[in-house]
Amino acid sequence: VVNNRMSNYLMQKLEEQGVPTHYVEECNERDTLVKKVEIVPLEVIIRNKACGSFSKRYGVAEGTELSIPTIEFSYKNDALGDPMINDMQITAIGIATIQELKTITESALKINELMKKFFIERDIILVDFKIEFGKYQNKIILADEVSPDTCRLWDANTKQKLDKDRFRRDLGGVEEAYEEVWKRIISK
Ligand code: UDP
Repeated sequence: VVNNRMSNYLMQKLEEQGVPTHYVEECNERDTLVKKVEIVPLEVIIRNKACGSFSKRYGVAEGTELSIPTIEFSYKNDALGDPMINDMQITAIGIATIQELKTITESALKINELMKKFFIERDIILVDFKIEFGKYQNKIILADEVSPDTCRLWDANTKQKLDKDRFRRDLGGVEEAYEEVWKRIISK
């Protein structure tokens, strides 16, 4: 319920700032009407600080500020275990065209800037997040969800984790953390 609300709220805020999304209407607390897109089978991950798999892969301590935001892609394919993939490989095997990938990359960076600002105004650091795009009437739009399930969100002062890592790392207080994020989202 909280994720549904948050994702819809964030998508509406992004729309207002020129990011096309799948959002149409919240039907009730658990259901949302969205545009029926053809999902581009990529997990698009944007990072502002090192954390999780990035920290492990490159040996960079969690929380280290990155000098520029980074983007990486995983090919959404359960049988293959969602392998990491680069832009040339994406184009070579026909997952997306060069133009589509350019749109996805530019949109992802813009979404990052807008969300970073949105969250820091609420004393939350946007560490990293995963988004997915879909094709709708030949346009690439933001789809899937944006929530503490798909973003790493840290309290700006205490660095307390307010996202799914509370569940993944067995830290407890999952629901409280999600409620806290929602409270801060609507505080302004
Ligand atoms: N993420 C996600 N779904 C996935 C993988 C990652 O939403 O299947 C998000 C995750 O919540 C984090 C970001 O993408 O905000 C980067 O995750 P990472 O690659 O560090 O993977 P993890 O450490 O979670 O395995």
